[in-house]
Amino acid sequence: MSQVVLTLNAGSSSVKFAIFAYGSGGFDELARGQVEGLGAQATFTAKRTSGAKVQFTLDPGQGAPDHRAAMKAILRWLGEEKLDDNVVAVGHRVLHGGRDFTQPARVDAALLATLRTLIPLGELHEPFNILGIEAAIEAFPKTPQVACFDTAFHRAQPFVADVYGLPRSYYDEGVRRYGFHGLSYEYIARRLKMVAPEIAGGRVVVAHLGNGSSLCAIRNGRAAATTMGMTPLDGVPMGTRSGQIDPGVLFYLMKVKGMSVTEVSDLITYNSGLKGLSGISQDMRALEASDSPAAKEAIDYFVYRIRREIGSLAAALDGLDAIVFTGGIGENSPRTRAEALTGMEWLGVHLDKAANAANAQRITTADSKTMALVVKTNEERMIAEHAINVAGLAAQLESAAR
Ligand code: ADP
Repeated sequence: MSQVVLTLNAGSSSVKFAIFAYGSGGFDELARGQVEGLGAQATFTAKRTSGAKVQFTLDPGQGAPDHRAAMKAILRWLGEEKLDDNVVAVGHRVLHGGRDFTQPARVDAALLATLRTLIPLGELHEPFNILGIEAAIEAFPKTPQVACFDTAFHRAQPFVADVYGLPRSYYDEGVRRYGFHGLSYEYIARRLKMVAPEIAGGRVVVAHLGNGSSLCAIRNGRAAATTMGMTPLDGVPMGTRSGQIDPGVLFYLMKVKGMSVTEVSDLITYNSGLKGLSGISQDMRALEASDSPAAKEAIDYFVYRIRREIGSLAAALDGLDAIVFTGGIGENSPRTRAEALTGMEWLGVHLDKAANAANAQRITTADSKTMALVVKTNEERMIAEHAINVAGLAAQLESAAR
């Protein structure tokens, strides 16, 4: 029977999971799914890689389903599908690893205590990541649990990319540009060695564009700079987040408009970005399908900020060998990619329109000095690999296979 790894990504109202078989042939995805709508009407959705989609509403029971109820639903389904017999490790996506976690780490009481101290850095996610870990420990008490941090990849970035222009003591206490989407960037950096080895050791900007969006400058596979900061609010505009904003605007909202900290935080976190600007939707597909001028302007601003960030990150890298698009929008929206790259000949980018329209892997012409690529990300797969490695199972399983 093959050994399996479970990955969990617990957010404020959802728990996403995936399950991989691991053996001498590497990783094989068996299923993935999620429970959404926690705290209200929760829906379970899952699909075996080779099967039909399963969907049902969670029984509200004693009250609205919480993370524990989500974990129970996931376990029950895994049981019914006979996918839970041999779980050798559980990998967790954790938003914030603070200053000190530069690698994934095995979960123990000390690690959980450290995560609790990091809640102020990631109030929207960290408490739920902790709840997810606790629920998984309860479900698999003897199985190694591994925390994989979305910030860890960026810890390699230099001081100038990490610091804010505040008195030094703030940097020392942890006010830093941590950056996020690190598991996605790590996966892409590794994947480039296979799909584009000629640039994998060079200067690459990766644009992870989804509901949350950021860009990262990577030099020789290591993080050099990124657009998100101490929290995932900075950088390009997103589905509902404003992205970069003059702090003076926040003072204006509070002092002149009399808004509370919570109101300002909710405004720039949940009601801004594509949703706020368009007044229509946070969903790129809906905006692309709309003929409203406000939808077009929202997309225009999104793309404009991406173009500026590509230029800025290229400067941080002293030039550019490749741009990689990933995430739901990056992988699937030819319009966003075309608008981001048109007019970038000054950076050596020559778009191949037909290849871009077809979502091909390489979307620049053969003579383009700087290559643009579309690469599908797989954060769950990265978590599964980390879980096996940190749990010390990689060597064990390899030798068993010999
Ligand atoms: P998350 O950050 O929640 O993981 P995703 O990476 O799944 O999000 O990205 C979701 C975004 O991708 C949504 O804005 C969605 O509209 C967009 N998207 C998905 N498919 C397409 C498509 N074919 N064309 C344009 N946008 C798309």
